[in-house]
Amino acid sequence: MSLPLEEREMAVVGCGPAGLCAAITAAKTGADVVVLDENDRAGGQLIKQIHRFFGSRRHGAGKRGYEIAGELERESEAAGVEMRLGNTVLGLFPGGEMMVEDRDGVYVLRARAVVVATGASEKGLAFPGWTLPGVMGAGAAQTLVNLHGVLPGRRVLMVGAGNVGLIVSYQLLQAGAEVVGILDVSERVGGYEVHRLRVQREGVPFYLGHRVVQARGRYGVEEVSVEEVGGASRKVFRADAVCLAVGLSPLAELAAMCGCRMVYSRELGGFMPWHDGDMRTDQPGVYVAGDAAGVEEASVAMEEGRMAGLSAAEDLGAMGRKEAERAKDEVRRFLWELRGGPYGEAKRRAKESVHCA
Ligand SMILES: Cc1cc2nc3c(=O)[nH]c(=O)nc-3n(C[C@H](O)[C@H](O)[C@H](O)COP(=O)(O)OP(=O)(O)OC[C@H]3O[C@@H](n4cnc5c(N)ncnc54)[C@H](O)[C@@H]3O)c2cc1C
Repeated sequence: MSLPLEEREMAVVGCGPAGLCAAITAAKTGADVVVLDENDRAGGQLIKQIHRFFGSRRHGAGKRGYEIAGELERESEAAGVEMRLGNTVLGLFPGGEMMVEDRDGVYVLRARAVVVATGASEKGLAFPGWTLPGVMGAGAAQTLVNLHGVLPGRRVLMVGAGNVGLIVSYQLLQAGAEVVGILDVSERVGGYEVHRLRVQREGVPFYLGHRVVQARGRYGVEEVSVEEVGGASRKVFRADAVCLAVGLSPLAELAAMCGCRMVYSRELGGFMPWHDGDMRTDQPGVYVAGDAAGVEEASVAMEEGRMAGLSAAEDLGAMGRKEAERAKDEVRRFLWELRGGPYGEAKRRAKESVHCA
């Protein structure tokens, strides 16, 4: 039995900030665009971000993540983007053919241009007891609390003092959990000062230069042993949840599956499809944007999405080369500004080595 086949001009996988911006940008040039997401809400990570974002007005500064998601969703509707939620892309093949699963079954969609904007996945950490119920990614805990109104535990130990660890710790406190500590193998807090101060003001202790040794419990986590790196001292916490905020990796298997050359960057989270500054991969008609192209921030994801949308529209013939170049120059300027400062500078250098790899 052959599967139903649908032909479209452009398909975007992922309705996060990168995918929505790619779709909006291309649709505004007149391209026919469909965007697919496995979730039943548009916005990707943004729908669970209840905190206000920094940055510029163009990137939603001062607004909460879910408000930015709502704005992008309305903008895509106005631009004529077709949004298919609850549609999981199971496979992507050379030539722009993808296998998609929705509530009614499986179908094949072929598009002349495909943007992979599938975001990132959380890294894990293996230690004795890590498979016990109660050990989970910090992003998973954030989904439980902010989308489903469920606490992952009453007493939570956060592993990782980067932005994700700090933000999720604060949101757990707001939701009524006790954060018994934030620990990190590093001797310094990796997240922004503003997020550190917020949790410190709530009295959450930091254990820097510490690592998890073991989680124990009968049916789920009941206590966790940690030690100073080097083993000088040990401590046991009573806790029923351990949240791991130890980094994100680009989620780019679809690009690998359709033959894109993959490159590695520690700074950007792991393996990602090679891409140039215009977000083209080495496979004709396949583009990448956002965390799938290297983990950074929502503002960068938006600009990379715009760049991918412009490249796709140009390659589809929906916009001329000169017009595309003018629009791309503006995006390049924003990306340059976003990657300023010591944190952004490291990301910029990492991106440049990806382009040259
Ligand atoms: C706790 C936390 C706090 C953050 N705070 C900030 C902040 O203050 N400021 C900031 O700028 N950034 C922040 N970020 C980072 C920001 O959320 C991400 O960088 C941004 O969401 C990346 O956008 P994206 O579109 O690449 O991916 P995502 O937002 O992850 O969207 C990817 C989408 O693709 C979908 N998808 C994946 N695979 C498939 C498939 N096979 N089929 C169909 N759909 C698929 C997913 O369901 C998802 O909806 C934060 C992140 C976290 C985890």
